[in-house]
Amino acid sequence: MSRPAKNQQPFDLCGDHPALDFVNSLDNRFRPNGPIELLADYGDLLRFMEQAQLLSSQQARLLARKTKQDAGAQVLQSAHELREAAAAAFYGSVDRRPPPLTDIRTLERHFLSASRHRELRWEPSTESSDGRPGIAWTWGRFETEADLPLWVLSQTVSDLMMSEEMGRVRTCGVATCRWLFLDTSKNHTRRWCNMKVCGNRMKARRFQERATAPRVSR
Ligand SMILES: [Zn+2]
Repeated sequence: MSRPAKNQQPFDLCGDHPALDFVNSLDNRFRPNGPIELLADYGDLLRFMEQAQLLSSQQARLLARKTKQDAGAQVLQSAHELREAAAAAFYGSVDRRPPPLTDIRTLERHFLSASRHRELRWEPSTESSDGRPGIAWTWGRFETEADLPLWVLSQTVSDLMMSEEMGRVRTCGVATCRWLFLDTSKNHTRRWCNMKVCGNRMKARRFQERATAPRVSR
């Protein structure tokens, strides 16, 4: 089946955490006339992983080369499933409303699957400055499997959800956008996903409202 030429624009990674950027890849999630899917095929998924620095370009190239179309489509479907369950939990936390139990079970399944596809290895430490070797979890022999992006994303989502940083997850102030971001600002006052997009959109709207407000009679 032929597809229209793809718009290969880079992803807007303004969420300041790859797990949140991943959720934001369903754009305009709350728009009345429907969202826009930015991860439309396995190639998009690899492109996102590489840009978010969750995979090296070498890993992404290898997976693009060796993954068959059917296998890639299946991984993409699982990634969408993971993303939507993660979205329910992130928005549930921000809005203080529990996500559906099915989403919690979906996350559990993905997190457990990611932890089952790792290997303990003896490696130079990336934590210590002198590179002293030690025991570390790696993707090991699973690193060349089509599912690698799914496991890495599951791990990334799980890491954020279990961390203190969860308290800093916020949503963009534009109602149709509500992109997620990690508020790392000093006074915790960040309001927009991307100042250039939604910040300006709100400013323009306020300007327009002022310009079209009924005039006081002369
Ligand atoms: Zn926004």
